[in-house]
Amino acid sequence: MYSSPQNLVIGAVATVSAAAVAAWLSNSFWLWVAAAVLAIVATVRIVAALGLSPDADRNSTTLLEVTYEIGAFSYALALGVTAAYTIYVDSLAQVQVLMVANALGYGVGVTARNAGRPTIAIGQLTFSCLPIAIIGFVTMEPAYVALSATILLLIPAQSLIARRIFSELRDSVASANANAELAAKMEELARTDVVTGLANRAGLNHAMLEELMAADADTRLALVWIDLDRFKEVNDLLGHPVGDRVLNEVGRRLDAIVPAGSTVARFGGDEFIVFGPVPDPQAAELLASEIHAEIMRPFRLDGERLEVRASLGVALSPDNGIDADTLMQSADLALYHAKVGGRSQTCFFDSSMTRDLVRRREIEHELRTALQRDELSIFFQPIVDLETGRIRTFEALVRWFHPEKGELTPDEFIPVAEETGVIVTLGNWITVQAARIAANWPEEVTVAVNLSPLQIRAPGAALGIKNALREAGLDPRRLELEVTESLFIEDNHATARFIEELSDIGVRFALDDFGTGYSSLGYINSFPFSKIKVDRSFVSGAQVGKKSNAIIRAVAEMGTQLGMDIVAEGLETIEQVQAVRSAGCNLGQGYYFSRAVPDYLAAMLLAQERENGARQASA
Ligand code: C2E
Ligand code: CA
Ligand code: CA
Repeated sequence: MYSSPQNLVIGAVATVSAAAVAAWLSNSFWLWVAAAVLAIVATVRIVAALGLSPDADRNSTTLLEVTYEIGAFSYALALGVTAAYTIYVDSLAQVQVLMVANALGYGVGVTARNAGRPTIAIGQLTFSCLPIAIIGFVTMEPAYVALSATILLLIPAQSLIARRIFSELRDSVASANANAELAAKMEELARTDVVTGLANRAGLNHAMLEELMAADADTRLALVWIDLDRFKEVNDLLGHPVGDRVLNEVGRRLDAIVPAGSTVARFGGDEFIVFGPVPDPQAAELLASEIHAEIMRPFRLDGERLEVRASLGVALSPDNGIDADTLMQSADLALYHAKVGGRSQTCFFDSSMTRDLVRRREIEHELRTALQRDELSIFFQPIVDLETGRIRTFEALVRWFHPEKGELTPDEFIPVAEETGVIVTLGNWITVQAARIAANWPEEVTVAVNLSPLQIRAPGAALGIKNALREAGLDPRRLELEVTESLFIEDNHATARFIEELSDIGVRFALDDFGTGYSSLGYINSFPFSKIKVDRSFVSGAQVGKKSNAIIRAVAEMGTQLGMDIVAEGLETIEQVQAVRSAGCNLGQGYYFSRAVPDYLAAMLLAQERENGARQASA
């Protein structure tokens, strides 16, 4: 009703000038009064309409409506009464026509215009036309009576039209609202993760763009990228429904602790992102440690207890980036460092990480040519019998002497080789070299080669090992393959067949880094391991103590019963050697005995041993 005040102006100009013309023609005082009244009411209405804009929400709808109603009704009544008056006093015919036409035209026109409020429309129609009808009947002249009758038919007919327009308006407004609601709902859905009900990638992007745009110079925003450690194992061992419930619970916990105004999103698989304002970097650190604590709190699912850990990468805005992409990249790099640095920790982005990434790219690039350029070689670290002190096995450990970067550790390039698939070629080469060198050692000394899961799953893996043995002329019983628990997470037929095929010809298997993975003992029984290597974190790591001692003891006891060798890794001091020996380990490996050495030094160690043995025998 207020949307076009110009309508009011046009109507006012038309009727006020009509009334003025009528007054002038009939030289009537009362018509001048009528023209004046119409002009005053019209002016008040126009001023009110301009002041009461529908956009200004301080004006309640009721106030707007009542104001309009009073103005409209008085205006219509003034118009109707004026027209009726011209008939009543029997003015000039043209004057009557002018005023009656004005009043009827107004009444009819307004029913369509104001159909959005049918009571107002019908009221205006009635007030502007009814006085004419009444006066028409009063005159009792046939033409006027006919006019009155017409008006009495006009009023209900126009009312009907007003009501019909109104209901159609209402329906289309309702469906437009419903459409808008649906659109809003769809948008919301598109931004929501179905498993957790948190924001998804799109939702996070949306929130980040909004927050970053609204941020002023003093706002600090933290992006915490959370990756659940080894979550794939939970999914594989316990099933996806359980995995989903854990994700759900993690999401719920995060949502409960993040600062107000933060967004929590799930970002593919087992990754979550918390994005929100922090007063300073210390607050971000605090947030990170709270997140760790919340995630580590054991889960109870159907009475089962489950522990989950996470790695966190944090980037801050504006320090580490002011746009969403840079922030994400920074947090991603920080997360990568957290994972490489041993998982279950938090890393904050720092610019050196970009350099590390460059280095990694270089390694990726140069690894393929390193083999051809003869930059790789194999070192050997003895595994010693703790009873006799004699070398039983040498573990083959690869080394890369880079012409510019110097010596690169396998921890740096093996993961890259695994990611790029070069590990298959590299692994085959290592096995051939190690087997060749071992063929020169005394019969009773074996060689251990590390295998990546990827190498084992590659087609023709077993054949590759057999070929290497044949090429080197090494008895399969003198080769030992070290595999890690991660291999058994997936119930893979290829893995089982690989192990079976090689065990059949006498190759032995050792379970490496025992105690760092999921440590489900089930597969120890189902696969023919001849050796368990207890991870060095139990010997010299942070967890060393009564508990780790008890674990070594338990593993050693089980191993002895199953006829396996138990190796303690990472022995650096005589105390450690004595401790693991008394805990039941029969073999040991570590700097206490020797570092990994080149093949000629390995041969020298063996020769020395033989000499010592001969001397002892002759003595
Ligand atoms: P791993 O199989 O657990 O090998 C033992 C690692 O512990 C070696 O590191 C070894 O030098 C180190 N170590 C031995 N004794 C001690 C000790 O007393 N104290 C300490 N602090 N460390 C000790 P390295 O050679 O850097 O190898 C690291 C990892 O890289 C290996 O861990 C293995 O997972 C992988 N790797 C090495 N060579 C190969 C390979 O030829 N193929 C594959 N697939 N992986 C390899
Ligand atoms: Ca190993
Ligand atoms: Ca190991």
